[in-house]
Amino acid sequence: MKNGIYKKKLDDLLVICRKNLRTVNEDLIRKAFEFSVEAHKNDIRASGDPFFNHPYEVAMVVAKEIPLDDVSVASALLHDVAEDTVFTIKDIRQEFGSTIADIVDGATKISDIFKSHEVTQAESYRKLLLSMVNDIRVILLKFADRLHNMRTLEYLPKERQLRMAKETLDIYAPFAHRFGLAKIKWELEDLAFKYLHPQEYEQIAHKLKSRRKERESYIRKFVQPVEKRLHDEGMTFEIEGRPKHFFSIYNKMVNRNKPFDEVYDLFAVRIVLDTENINDCFTVYGILSSIYIPIPERFKNYISVPKKNGYQSIHATVVGPEGKMVEVQIRTRGMHEIAEKGVAAHWKYKENLSTLDEELENWISWVREIFEHADEEAVDKQLLESFKLNLYQDEIYVFTPKGELKILPQGATPVDFAFAVHSNIGFHCLSAKVNGRIVSLDTPVRSGDQVEIITSKHQMPKADWEQFVVTHKAKSQIRKWIKEEERKAIANGRELWEKKLKKAKLHINDDDLMKYVHEFKVGDLRDFFLKIQREEINPDAVVQEIELKMKHPRQEAVVDEQNDGIFNRFISTARNLTSGITLFGTRDNFLHSFAKCCNPIPGDEIVGYVTKGEGVKVHLKLCKNLQSLMASDPSRIVDVGWPVTNGVEYASAVRISGEDRTGMLNDITHSISTYQNTNIRGVKIDAKDSLFEGTIMLGVKNTEHLDRIIEKLRKIKGVFRAERLVE
Ligand code: MN
Repeated sequence: MKNGIYKKKLDDLLVICRKNLRTVNEDLIRKAFEFSVEAHKNDIRASGDPFFNHPYEVAMVVAKEIPLDDVSVASALLHDVAEDTVFTIKDIRQEFGSTIADIVDGATKISDIFKSHEVTQAESYRKLLLSMVNDIRVILLKFADRLHNMRTLEYLPKERQLRMAKETLDIYAPFAHRFGLAKIKWELEDLAFKYLHPQEYEQIAHKLKSRRKERESYIRKFVQPVEKRLHDEGMTFEIEGRPKHFFSIYNKMVNRNKPFDEVYDLFAVRIVLDTENINDCFTVYGILSSIYIPIPERFKNYISVPKKNGYQSIHATVVGPEGKMVEVQIRTRGMHEIAEKGVAAHWKYKENLSTLDEELENWISWVREIFEHADEEAVDKQLLESFKLNLYQDEIYVFTPKGELKILPQGATPVDFAFAVHSNIGFHCLSAKVNGRIVSLDTPVRSGDQVEIITSKHQMPKADWEQFVVTHKAKSQIRKWIKEEERKAIANGRELWEKKLKKAKLHINDDDLMKYVHEFKVGDLRDFFLKIQREEINPDAVVQEIELKMKHPRQEAVVDEQNDGIFNRFISTARNLTSGITLFGTRDNFLHSFAKCCNPIPGDEIVGYVTKGEGVKVHLKLCKNLQSLMASDPSRIVDVGWPVTNGVEYASAVRISGEDRTGMLNDITHSISTYQNTNIRGVKIDAKDSLFEGTIMLGVKNTEHLDRIIEKLRKIKGVFRAERLVE
């Protein structure tokens, strides 16, 4: 064990940490360092170096370029432990707690995804990556990891070089930009460019080198008078020619179709002021424009109006010596740090907030905004409730076996996935493998999962699928399929039934059939045919039943006086007396029955409801059931009424009370109706403790007519009282 080397490495790392981080738990870093050394002790990198060099360098990048906190540095040291050694996330959790374990776990999962799939849809991959990240430090760690891998890419085989370079350009560099990590973004891009376009890279490198002296001397010439004036003003600052990035030169050449010289000839200078006073930036601009003529329309004030990623600076273009355009950026040291180190510097320099928590919230909300509003539009700031960063939490990204990405809503199951791939796969989806393991079809899938659907020609959608699928497509397709199946089953059931009827030489229409099948607790004929098809009803038994009933038709309205209450008895008697009801004002022998819910009696205001197979059901106009039937299907409401008798009649009410004995009602109605065919128009009877009391509305010709009836009523055995009711 080369203890000396390791000790120096640890000391170097701690020095950087102490310099760049707000607080450093040195024990934590030391422990993570030692754990990583031990875990990786037998591994060697492609370069021939001990593997530990990699996590160590990644930790260095984190501490130097993205200095956020000690937890990030420790996580960087441990980031490949779970992936490449015998130690697991569980071990890390035990040793270092769940925050670090979760960060390492997140980073490992991302590595796994990228290892097993080639990036084909960059935008989806970017979202996938974010959907897997709960802690922002995971993604910062991945930047550092990727940066070190790109710096040491030369040791890998050509094929992996290309793949990694493409991933870097498609995924990591755009992310780094959005996080405000300008320096890392440039380096990632230049390194990727070097492997993806080696010839172009070499050409630009060569030209830059050959023009360097010339360029440097021009910049010196430009800078000198500015430098002098700023010193005279007593300012502390740094002024330098801004380095040109290979990839940006290349991009400008390609996108603007311009030769190298033209792109290259745009000189750029940056002035970084060691001051906290932002007004100094404007003072410097004033000085600069007194030396060189400014181009007003190229002046940009990102200090008063910072960019979304927090970037602040003054951008100005002036006419330099020999009439050449020079771009100048003016900013404070703090602004410069934020421009180069993005989120991490933001964390370090925004110290005016009272608590750490509040700071974190602001920071996270800022990061979120970058993603949610990638465009430059201004948005209201929204504070987050939690530390956790859940970007794209409503969506999950899963892979097909061929590596294609499918975007599904949170909670989606393999069945949703199957329908998302193709309806036919959904319809015949038999079982599912998630990451190679069979799971039940209702198991929610997660971002990064690879889902494989096993289909069978014989498999059909199940009704319970509808309960657990979450996508609209799956739901509607399953419903449609079930409906269609039902339609077919009903048609088949009907066919089966009609064959049976034909065989039995029975003729029965749907309405009559409905009356018979009611006894089988079937809602309607569709249901009846469906149950026949599903063999829940035996059609032969129904045929037998019907044959039997046709031979022995039931007696109409047999009133069992022993068992029936007085009210019901009266109703049926009264209904018989009125001999039916009218439909739209005309008396017709149409099929009708009286609703049990409201029991209309002659004289009540009534309404008809056309049922399936039972003709018109007569309800009270005020019946609650009717109200809901009306609301659901008003077209089935018909106008019905009690028949109007000929001749002029006056409505008159008789109050009657007596004993509720067997035959009492018959006697009353008989007495009334046998006297000059008197019409009963309405009845209200209450019975209690074998006594009854009620009011009968009659249609009478005159008072003599009424008096006679009252006389007759009084003579009935058990009637205590009968008199005209005068209101
Ligand atoms: Mn790594």
